[in-house]
Amino acid sequence: MRIDILTALPRLLDSYFSESILERAQKKGLVEVVVHDLRDFSTDKHKRLDDYAFGGGAGMVMTIEPIHRCIEKLKGERAYDEVIYMSPDGDLLDQPMANRMSSLKNIILLCGHYKGVDERVRQHLITREVSIGNYVLSGGELPAAVLSDSLIRLLPGVLNDETSALSDSFQDGLVAPPVYTRPAEYNGWGIPEVLMSGHEAKIHAWRHEQSVLRTQERRPDLLESFGDG
Ligand code: SAH
Repeated sequence: MRIDILTALPRLLDSYFSESILERAQKKGLVEVVVHDLRDFSTDKHKRLDDYAFGGGAGMVMTIEPIHRCIEKLKGERAYDEVIYMSPDGDLLDQPMANRMSSLKNIILLCGHYKGVDERVRQHLITREVSIGNYVLSGGELPAAVLSDSLIRLLPGVLNDETSALSDSFQDGLVAPPVYTRPAEYNGWGIPEVLMSGHEAKIHAWRHEQSVLRTQERRPDLLESFGDG
């Protein structure tokens, strides 16, 4: 998979992709994340990326030209499955959406800023819009990183334990069971005995039961949308 991220603030994304699981995934060649500075595509002599809104009102709007030029350049180099604008009014990201999108080959993620992008970008240059939640952030960089992370960790070979992503919350309509690590007793606080039993089937059954209980308690809506879970 290749992910091209278009942004006015490329440095915001540097550290996130150069640590831990995401860094390893790139080093292993499982994903390529390329961040593009939209300023490099500006023909304005001050490299400005925004302008006042027609009709007035507070807040600047990102201009179409640098975005168009960057997308056209990339499209000239390879075919893209989706050109996605990160937007608070887009389709809400959830695990099924991440699962589906993780099989795409090449995607472009466009990060907005200020009041967002000129509407003609949305009308003519992108193929879909994705929101990471019903709240507004100041830029699309965190949303693009969130979406990328949710896709990359699903790519085969990225997580050490192949089954690990499958046991995460939401994958089977259940939230994850509790997990513990050493020490078995800390400050008088112990752990469920079954986890020390070495009895694989019992541990598996206990984890499943905990998942169901937790889902009933915390997210009964998930049980409804997955039938009886
Ligand atoms: N005026 C716009 C918000 C602009 S926020 C509106 O009311 O819809 C600036 C940028 O941050 C947006 O262009 C978008 O790229 C990004 N952004 C903010 N919140 C987001 C969210 N919940 N999901 C995805 N992108 C978001």
